[in-house]
Amino acid sequence: MASEGRESIAIYPGSFDPLTNGHLDLIARGARLFRNLIVAVLKNTQKQPLFSVDERLGMMREVCCAFGNVEVDSFDGLLVDYAARRDATAILRGIRAISDYEIELQMAHVNRRLRPETETIFLLASEEYAFVSSRMIKEIIMLGGDVSQFVPAPVLERLRAKVTR
Ligand code: ADP
Repeated sequence: MASEGRESIAIYPGSFDPLTNGHLDLIARGARLFRNLIVAVLKNTQKQPLFSVDERLGMMREVCCAFGNVEVDSFDGLLVDYAARRDATAILRGIRAISDYEIELQMAHVNRRLRPETETIFLLASEEYAFVSSRMIKEIIMLGGDVSQFVPAPVLERLRAKVTR
């Protein structure tokens, strides 16, 4: 059915440490494809984050309130279990380069084995954001560079506050 995608709920999971314009581009495109999009911050990550989960949620909510059908949430445990709890039938992920593809392919296969009802949907990064990553943003800001063209305004504000503290 042509309208099926619009009826469904998708989860866009990630670290979002911090949210970039590349993430935001994917959110805007996902919000057009699905009835509801849940942008979900993974809590139980091993990585040493720059921003706490609560800080990330705050910035992301500020940015995503512009979309009527986007919710910002956090989760721990298995993504497919969270998807089941939220009645989501799709997981949204972005592909910037072959390096993303290799990791994403493995995760998508594992998630399909764990819960076949959940499809992983990939969107290719838009050309202008294909090189933008949270890691790159953190490196530039720590070295005193200007990241204003890569992140939404609320994120820029918090990044500047972190480095001037
Ligand atoms: P993770 O730790 O799960 O990789 P990220 O926050 O780095 O979390 O990324 C979440 C998702 O967003 C991943 O699917 C990643 O490939 C995608 N992504 C990250 N940056 C971009 C970008 N600039 N354009 C499109 N997708 C992106």
